[in-house]
Amino acid sequence: MIPPNFDYQAPETLADAVALLSGNPGAKILSGGQSLIPMMRFRLAEPVLIVDINRVPGLEYIREQGGWLKIGGLTRESAVDGSDLVASRYPLLADTARLIADPLVRNRATVGGNLAHADPANDHPATMLAYRARVVATGPAGEREIPIDEFFLGPFESSLIENEILTEVRIPSTNGRSGGAYQKLERKVGDYATAAVATQVTLDGAGNVASAGIGLTNVGLTPIRASAAEEYLTGRAPTEANISQAASLAAEAAEPEPDYRGSVAYKRSLVRTLTYRALMKAVARANGGQA
Ligand SMILES: Cc1cc2nc3c(=O)[nH]c(=O)nc-3n(C[C@H](O)[C@H](O)[C@H](O)COP(=O)(O)OP(=O)(O)OC[C@H]3O[C@@H](n4cnc5c(N)ncnc54)[C@H](O)[C@@H]3O)c2cc1C
Repeated sequence: MIPPNFDYQAPETLADAVALLSGNPGAKILSGGQSLIPMMRFRLAEPVLIVDINRVPGLEYIREQGGWLKIGGLTRESAVDGSDLVASRYPLLADTARLIADPLVRNRATVGGNLAHADPANDHPATMLAYRARVVATGPAGEREIPIDEFFLGPFESSLIENEILTEVRIPSTNGRSGGAYQKLERKVGDYATAAVATQVTLDGAGNVASAGIGLTNVGLTPIRASAAEEYLTGRAPTEANISQAASLAAEAAEPEPDYRGSVAYKRSLVRTLTYRALMKAVARANGGQA
């Protein structure tokens, strides 16, 4: 289908982009266009104005600074996938980027767009829950930081205001004995997840779990934090039995709908298996393994 008519602007500064959004209610930001353009073609989105932010400088970077891994909102998935820093220190993020869509989509799609789109089937939301990340939104009044637990309000609905641009994602820098992993089941390469699980663990000096983050993809109307599983693991030894119990608690937290990808029982069972595998891998990585 052909999208309805719309106006198009490509501002060259962040301030101009924010001003255009403020002056044109119903305008939409264009980043990678990998979700917005298909939605327009299906007439699920009918923006009056497209504000293309691809010419705004300074929004594509990956760097560690002040205790955070900072990722610019317009950073492409391919840049995350190809980053040595991410590969060596943020394996959960590396796993996630590698499993998003296919190389062609990853060349255009952005981390900011993935989160702002707030699709519960997208992969970064659960990963950012597991990391306890923060999102930086820039609007007419400047920047504000949003904890990831307050970011996803519903399907395709985030706490961004219409004239705000997601300009940065902040992931706490990993230190000491920490590791993470993302496990995803997809029907074919490049597909959205039937279900997926993001895990991030830090171990204390005795080898027990000091903190755990577990996020679930595509088993609810928003990405889901498996809080009871996180609490269960914290302070316990990461044994197979404890990880298995945490995986069962994560499955209970899932709220899947039946569809062509599977029944509720199947998806819950999948969450249990994927959580178990992701936690085992995260712990192995925290202990220095690259499994
Ligand atoms: C074939 C295919 C397979 C895919 N498979 C997967 C997959 O397996 N996993 C996955 O996670 N994703 C997948 N995607 C989605 C892809 O990752 C999207 O590109 C991504 O979700 C949106 O990023 P984008 O930069 O393309 O955003 P756009 O399409 O440009 O924008 C999406 C929405 O977010 C808003 N937006 C964009 N950037 C910002 C910003 N900086 N601030 C505020 N709002 C903003 C836009 O206004 C729009 O409403 C797939 C896409 C395709 C086409």
